[in-house]
Amino acid sequence: MKNDSVMLRKVLIAYKYKRRRGWSSERRRAMQGELLRKVVADAYGSVPFYRRWLDEAGVSIDMIETLDDLQKIPVVTKRDFALVDIKDRIKEGVDLEKCHSSQTSGSTGTPAKTYFSKDEYRDRRGRMHLGFADLGCKPYERVISLGKLINKPRREKFSFPSSIIKPAILKNFRNKLYSLRSSVVYGDQPTRTYQRALKHEKSGRSTYSPRMIVAAGDMMTASARKYIEGVYGCPFKFFYGTKEFGMIGTECPESESYHVTSDNIIIEVIKDGVRVADGEEGVMTLTDLTERVMPMIRYELGDIVTYSEDGCSCGHKGPVILSLKGRADDLIILPDGSAISAYFAVESIYDISTIIQFRIIQKSLEAFEIEYEGEIPEERKARIRAEYADKFSADNVTFRKVDHMSPDPSGKLRKFISHVKSTHDITPS
Ligand SMILES: [Zn+2]
Repeated sequence: MKNDSVMLRKVLIAYKYKRRRGWSSERRRAMQGELLRKVVADAYGSVPFYRRWLDEAGVSIDMIETLDDLQKIPVVTKRDFALVDIKDRIKEGVDLEKCHSSQTSGSTGTPAKTYFSKDEYRDRRGRMHLGFADLGCKPYERVISLGKLINKPRREKFSFPSSIIKPAILKNFRNKLYSLRSSVVYGDQPTRTYQRALKHEKSGRSTYSPRMIVAAGDMMTASARKYIEGVYGCPFKFFYGTKEFGMIGTECPESESYHVTSDNIIIEVIKDGVRVADGEEGVMTLTDLTERVMPMIRYELGDIVTYSEDGCSCGHKGPVILSLKGRADDLIILPDGSAISAYFAVESIYDISTIIQFRIIQKSLEAFEIEYEGEIPEERKARIRAEYADKFSADNVTFRKVDHMSPDPSGKLRKFISHVKSTHDITPS
């Protein structure tokens, strides 16, 4: 009974967001503007960090009337948050014991904790539900979240809908996994899913046959994806989300875009401090219109994206992340001391169809090592060397083929690692 009502609430929240997708963009923006006003007023009134942030920028809450006024508020970076006590970012008077929390993996620095209320948590679950529905799941389809379970079997955690899984199954989950046919498996990180596929293929236990595998986290090459789909004989799909915001978007079935799941997340793409036009590349900055316990207003997430409000080529209406190109805060330090986004190193490797996984290491100012699983033709290696010499003044680019790449402790596989210490105070450009 209890589980049924949990399920119903999720479905209702999902339905609310789905229904609003049919709204005109004027209507949606008016509603978002109204919510924004409330979120900013609330944050100013009861969250010390945002009170200071707005005061220092000379922004008063009556200056925030429409969605466009969001641009008056300076962008907050990870660094800005890291410099303040976490208590200063939480609404005064909130009992954290009664809150839910999630922690980022810390793959790009210190892990950061996010707190949210019960209602905010429900909203997240509802948006997640809508995300699964967008990928083609039925409302009562069995979705099993197995990432944490595999690694820490005692931390049982099923995402959707929990009522269908009986606790008894948990006792011997590793073995039971093989009999869980035709369910949707939600593995956490693509890299871990890939590692698992390698293991499963080796053990030859082909009875494990989900209907679909869904992953979220780091990006993945087309070959690694194909491999996973081959081993399990089912589609492998992606969510795009973060611990700070929950669900953001789901992969388009026809293109490389991500359909934005819900209108409570405002996406802006920023370049040189200014919002760029639709379709132009920049750093993704997000505002959450639901979260009040720990508000996230104009938070620079750091992924390099292009974005459009105008829907997707597949016919999906509403905002779409057209391309997602990795992190802007991974930086390559150039010999002259300047820094540029590591994305420019990663993009030369990404579309090599014979590479399964890779990691680029900047070993010194002029030396890069590309560790990879798969094959890179000699002619392509020469081209990469020439590109790196041109873009980063690199005079030493080496390639190291490995049998199996291990993910980072976080479970992700960072595509770029720098051994060069920078003394610069750098912001991505
Ligand atoms: Zn689409």
